Amino acid sequence: MTPQIVRTLAFQPNERNIFFHILTACNLSCRHCYINPAQHGNATLAKETIADWLTLFADQDKNSNVIFLGGEPTLHPDLPFAVKKARQLGYRTITVDTNGYLHHDLLNKIGPEEAVLSFSLDGPEAAVNDPLRGSGVFEVCTANIRRAVALGFETSLIYTVSSLNIAALRRMPALVKALGIRNFFIQIIGLRGNSAGDDSSGLQLSPEEWLTQVPPVAAEAAALGLHVIYPKVFLDASEPFVCAGEAAENFFIFPNGRVYRCPLCEDFPVHSFEITADRHLRPNSGLREEQFFSLRIPEGCVMNKMLQPSNISYNSDGRPRYRISCCLLKQEIMSSMV
Ligand code: SF4
Ligand code: SF4
Repeated sequence: MTPQIVRTLAFQPNERNIFFHILTACNLSCRHCYINPAQHGNATLAKETIADWLTLFADQDKNSNVIFLGGEPTLHPDLPFAVKKARQLGYRTITVDTNGYLHHDLLNKIGPEEAVLSFSLDGPEAAVNDPLRGSGVFEVCTANIRRAVALGFETSLIYTVSSLNIAALRRMPALVKALGIRNFFIQIIGLRGNSAGDDSSGLQLSPEEWLTQVPPVAAEAAALGLHVIYPKVFLDASEPFVCAGEAAENFFIFPNGRVYRCPLCEDFPVHSFEITADRHLRPNSGLREEQFFSLRIPEGCVMNKMLQPSNISYNSDGRPRYRISCCLLKQEIMSSMV
């Protein structure tokens, strides 16, 4: 077997990542959708607002990256403008996270050198994917991935693992490879939006399910030549706990002007900042997520302990069996021959 490189991707102090939700509307209604209109609004940002907010967060002194999100960002007719504006402002990488529908003829409105296209697919075939993401989605998404790859776009695929599709995960690497995608991102189901709802109890994974099934599939995918990234989730005993809210510059921007530093907080009005009508970034008044970031507990991430305590288990002496890492800490695995 080809040797593999496995490493934890440490937070980079000279990097800034902008997760920019330019609207919350979507043509799908996925079972685990994390969009929460009560907290994120249902606005579609005006073209001028997108330009202003991109300018507000562009930092020439940092490696700035922007990821356009929704809802479904390709539903926004001004997405091509947003991509070009971000490039003009010096963003180092520009990514569009899409459900695969590529509305408004996106592939003919931007060039392959202008943005990376990241497709979400939650099953290796329609029988697994479509009950989670919608009837007919597998066929549309895979057809558009093939079109994007043929046109020369850099592509990635995000697979959100839940109890409903973890058994099918091992069949994904072959599909990703066959589609011509190089980057394979395995995501864990969160407890946000729909996943936090009443019918979500069947979606969550146990630590054992994650640890016994995800890393081996990631290694198999890397052996096929794929670049694989997946959340660390459980820290090794020797690894320090680091909160991205303190050690990195991540901004999760929603169309109602809320700006979060931690994705786990997005269902609550504890955002760090608000973008004001006159385009300034103002600290949110009242309780703010940042007040939790410096708390140190044996369980690791304090927001996880508060919001998702069911994924922590304890030894008979009361000590946690695992420390939970920051949800933004990633593990990378790839063949050393790549
Ligand atoms: S494609 Fe994304 S935004 Fe749309 S319903 Fe699915 S998870 Fe939600
Ligand atoms: S997930 Fe936890 S560790 Fe990461 S930014 Fe949020 S509070 Fe900090």
